[in-house]
Amino acid sequence: MHFYALAVIPGDGDVDRLVAEALAPYDVRREVELLAGEDGEAHWYNPDGLWDWFQIGGRWTGVLSGYRPADDPALTRSCRWCAGTGRRDDEVGRERRAADPAFTCNGCDGRGEMLAWPTEWPRHHGDVLDALDVLVRISDVPDEAVPFAIMVHGSERAVLMERFDGTRIRVERDTAGMRRELADTLSARMREGHADRVVVVDYHG
Ligand SMILES: [Zn+2]
Repeated sequence: MHFYALAVIPGDGDVDRLVAEALAPYDVRREVELLAGEDGEAHWYNPDGLWDWFQIGGRWTGVLSGYRPADDPALTRSCRWCAGTGRRDDEVGRERRAADPAFTCNGCDGRGEMLAWPTEWPRHHGDVLDALDVLVRISDVPDEAVPFAIMVHGSERAVLMERFDGTRIRVERDTAGMRRELADTLSARMREGHADRVVVVDYHG
């Protein structure tokens, strides 16, 4: 599943490197503790592991800036399934059309264009924001823009909206608590003199 995190990183320095450093403690592949498996063998695992892949922006690009990748003409590509014709005519397309004469193309619904894959999207400037910008806006953003996790560069633990309690992930999403956590974290760091940036991250876990 893909989740949305905000990485809090220092104001100066390379964004890619700092975000990678902020997320590193939560890489599920890190070997932190030994756990006895059912087969009797001990396996390394990371009790704080959250992700096996991440990307800045990704499926959550624009979540704090209002940018909508689906509406950006720069991100549309000729549909790969129908070669831009809007009518899929390979074996699959002909089979589907035989069953349903109204079938056009399952890649583009007949438009001939499709959205580029998120990994091909260029960096959106609105995914890297000043902490102050986020702080003044966080109480007003819709619930969908409240992150699932907050990872602070150099800190020991991520703040999570839901926690695994050993048997299950709690289903209720505490968006109000998460807004408060984010505001408290950012303002505490400002008082300490940090001028942070906040980065939108899409992670798979
Ligand atoms: Zn198509």
